[in-house]
Amino acid sequence: MAGAETKVIQIAGSITVDELAKALGLSVTSLIGELFKEGIVATINQRLDFDTAALILDELEIKGVKLEKKNTTTQISEHKRELSDKAVTRPPVVAVMGHVDHGKTTLLDTLFHKKTVEGEAGGITQHISAYQLEYQDRKITFLDTPGHEAFAAIRQHGAMLTDIVVIVVAADDGVKPQTVEAIKFAQGANAKIIVAINKIDREGADIPRTMADLSQHGLQPEEWGGDITMVPISAKRGDNLEKLLDMILLTSDIEELKADVEIPSEGLVIESHMEMGKGSVVNLLVTGGELKTGEFIVAGTTYAKIRTMLDFRGKPKGKATPSTPVTVTGFKELPNFGDSFVEVKDEKTARKMALLNAQAAQNANASANVTSTDLLRMMNVADNSKVFNVIIKGDVLGSVTSVVDSLKMIDTNGEITLNIVAAGVGDVTENDVYMAEGGETVIYGFNVNVPTNIAKMAARDKVKIKNYRVIYELLDDAKSEMEELLPAEVVEEEKGEMKVLGVFRTERTAIIAGGEVLRGEVKPKMLARVMRGKELVGEVEVESVQKERMAVDSLAAGETGGIALKLEKRLVVEINDRLKFFTRELKKRKL
Ligand code: GDP
Repeated sequence: MAGAETKVIQIAGSITVDELAKALGLSVTSLIGELFKEGIVATINQRLDFDTAALILDELEIKGVKLEKKNTTTQISEHKRELSDKAVTRPPVVAVMGHVDHGKTTLLDTLFHKKTVEGEAGGITQHISAYQLEYQDRKITFLDTPGHEAFAAIRQHGAMLTDIVVIVVAADDGVKPQTVEAIKFAQGANAKIIVAINKIDREGADIPRTMADLSQHGLQPEEWGGDITMVPISAKRGDNLEKLLDMILLTSDIEELKADVEIPSEGLVIESHMEMGKGSVVNLLVTGGELKTGEFIVAGTTYAKIRTMLDFRGKPKGKATPSTPVTVTGFKELPNFGDSFVEVKDEKTARKMALLNAQAAQNANASANVTSTDLLRMMNVADNSKVFNVIIKGDVLGSVTSVVDSLKMIDTNGEITLNIVAAGVGDVTENDVYMAEGGETVIYGFNVNVPTNIAKMAARDKVKIKNYRVIYELLDDAKSEMEELLPAEVVEEEKGEMKVLGVFRTERTAIIAGGEVLRGEVKPKMLARVMRGKELVGEVEVESVQKERMAVDSLAAGETGGIALKLEKRLVVEINDRLKFFTRELKKRKL
């Protein structure tokens, strides 16, 4: 407990600049300024880890304040503010993740009695969508994503929004790369994992093998003495879904998920786009307080007076409590995917905070030019790294951010530098093509249109426009485009050896010799190293191969015959030299 003189600030994993400023009684701007002096570029919503917060306290020589690492046994509290005694139970926020085609969409569709056209874009939705289910008189919030990249992106923006991750694994397919990714994500986000072993109605379904597969990846089933709940389900037929929901509720009970409601409302931007007639339409997930229409909220560099608020089904909602997803209108400009929002008392404060955030962001950009990492990167560009230029167009801000962030995550061993020439919402335009012209720039569209005249213009100007509806396909393509930029690898393969028994003719650019093939074979077009004892005399190309004065395709081990060698530079071949044959190919490299 806080003593009379010493104020204790508990930090569970991290604290936002805003929260720390409030806790210290400093203005956010001066805290940002202080951080800046320490070489830390931060914005108001940015999270600082414990050590950074401690560092700044030290620097400021703030006395009478003690930082304490909050014990995060209920790990989920990492993204939560410090709770008061008035905190109330809130619904769990559940993300459904897993390998493509293992049944994520089907599971959500069955739970929400939705109909998704089967096979549509590989069943992957384009943005984070959120739904709320009522079960046993309790609510559960589900998040649906365009793939794990969106989650990773939102995490990069400093937010943790999932309490529980349901990992869907098809019982007839087992653990696959994206399953592993999902496991890593859930562990990294400190979320509780529940596994749904899906497609148990299928003939090839093998539950024990799937469990064994999962335990190989560190998830030990409860049945086998581990701590991971695994529920065999059929998302398609609906088998055992109630059990899955029971387990979700049980897990959230154990986690004691709570939130304060008597505080200014706060939460996260999970999706934003423009709509004709409505302006900005923004999906928010409330994490604290109660959000109401008419309130002012700030998110990043923009703010809103909430004009309309709808629930996930599109019905008007007057008040949104923690863990509730809502769609609001009223933002002046589109906030960013992953931005956190907070309620403020009036328009003046809202405007000021948004402006401060914008200034802080500008500072961040300005200083980003001079960090040593950037310098290094720039030097690398000049040195040996190739640059992959892209322009990204997406249907909504969320997809653009996901694509950009996912592209940044492609590991190129530092050999390729990603240069995002431009990124934005909307169809591919003439301007995009102009920008891409002559610069070896690829335009990636994600769920957008490429008008015919633009496609023609691009074809004429030799600009590549690639339009995708599934993020994995876009990333695969970007990867192969990057692979094209990698210098090819030289691959040599040994083919055979000949002992020279006679030299018939030596010219400036050709030699005709005869000999016995000791091993392997020799064919026209192969290369040969001329060895004299241990000394390498030179390298030549086999022009033709003869046997009994007739041209043949090859000479095999044990055969004798003649060969004509093509020389690049003058070289002498002598009796008893060895010719070591090999092929040399340039192979494309993979990332
Ligand atoms: P996602 O890519 O993970 O969202 O996978 P989908 O939900 O799109 O499912 C991929 C395919 O598997 C679709 O053809 C579904 O109909 C099928 N599927 C999903 N769940 C089940 C299930 O429980 N049983 C069977 N037999 N098929 C399923």
